[in-house]
Amino acid sequence: MSTPKYKRILLKLSGEALNGGDKTQVIDFNILDQYAREIRRVYDAGVEIAIVIGGGNIFRGASVEKSGIDRVQGDHMGMLATVINGMAVQSSLEKHGMYTRLMSAIKMEQVCEPLIRRRAIRHLEKKRIVIFGAGTGNPYFTTDTTASLRAIESEAEVVLKGTRVDGVYTADPEKDPSAVKYDHLSFDEALAKNLKIMDLTAFALCKENNVPIIVFDMNKPGNLYDLAMGGQVGTLVSNES
Ligand code: UDP
Repeated sequence: MSTPKYKRILLKLSGEALNGGDKTQVIDFNILDQYAREIRRVYDAGVEIAIVIGGGNIFRGASVEKSGIDRVQGDHMGMLATVINGMAVQSSLEKHGMYTRLMSAIKMEQVCEPLIRRRAIRHLEKKRIVIFGAGTGNPYFTTDTTASLRAIESEAEVVLKGTRVDGVYTADPEKDPSAVKYDHLSFDEALAKNLKIMDLTAFALCKENNVPIIVFDMNKPGNLYDLAMGGQVGTLVSNES
């Protein structure tokens, strides 16, 4: 078997990835099953895997402010939503025979471990998949920022942002058919062109700490594995121009 490009990766999945954008259900268990199969291939190749999962399929703090729910309260609800998703991902990975740990930035010890950085790194070294739940533990942040932060803290070499599109385009490819995909972009170019890849905080953390981001289509079988092996998939955003 060939050697993977990365020793340790951080995979970011949005909450909406888990229901395939279908608002009539919270989680599509067929999608979850498919993701577990994709992750298993990378796990079997010996890559250490950390996962950050969003909560947008259940709750987003900012979007309920208008309905009278205080922003901080809403954000706490959003962070709890990520733990629900994390539990679903954990179960699915375990069903597929992988060892996992769910760690939460908000203490809930009956459900999952508290987040302790050194312990997370130890789990990764022991080839357990670490799912980071409850975002950063702070309101006004996103799970994209969480992904950047946890990648840096856990010394992952890259953030793999799994989306529904196969990379970063000059315009939204779901709206503009003339949009062209980038294979590579520097952080500075992406900022100058105001391409909405991740929020600014998430982006700044990766840029300053020299952690590249690869945006790719998580729904295409084999993509995650090809990326882990060093294949050219999606759009790479890095400090190199
Ligand atoms: N959230 C938060 N702090 C964090 C991460 C998330 O307050 O560090 C809340 C916020 O309300 C957010 C929600 O959790 O809207 C769900 O996360 P996000 O919107 O990033 O999920 P995704 O879009 O990836 O599904």
